[in-house]
Amino acid sequence: MQPDLTFPLARSAAMIEEDPKAAKEAFAAVAKANAEPCPSCGKVIRHRKGLDWCRDDQMSERTLQDRIVDRAKRRGWTVAHAGKGWVGNHETGEGQFITPMMKGWPDLFLMNPTTKAAYKVFFIECKDQSGQPDEDQVRVMKLLIACGIKGAVLRPSDLREGRVNAILDGR
Ligand SMILES: [Zn+2]
Repeated sequence: MQPDLTFPLARSAAMIEEDPKAAKEAFAAVAKANAEPCPSCGKVIRHRKGLDWCRDDQMSERTLQDRIVDRAKRRGWTVAHAGKGWVGNHETGEGQFITPMMKGWPDLFLMNPTTKAAYKVFFIECKDQSGQPDEDQVRVMKLLIACGIKGAVLRPSDLREGRVNAILDGR
């Protein structure tokens, strides 16, 4: 990006003397105009928590799930996921999305009889970075865990920081 030369040094010094408040505002506007947008969200903003935080925050639950499924399949896991189906009148649009599984069933159920992992089946509940499992999901997860099935709630930061790979590899 070309540097903005609207406020060369001499002019800036004069402005600060004449009207410090207006000068401050003008400098801020120039700084903003010359700032690079965040490569993740596109906003001209410096995230205090960093770019990784923004990337995690931008990733949808759907994208996270797709990436986990992709990695799991490449490692030989068979992945069952409870999709959603539309039940209703397609012409009028009346109806609702239903899931064929029980309420609260985790997003993904993975099976791999030949994995080196100690577990051959486990479940994953995908959440966006700030999402929390709801009451039904917590109830079903607790039930599955009580039955000896391992599982995890995973978020975009888990993908970026390697926890998804670790779980899929049984590390
Ligand atoms: Zn951003």
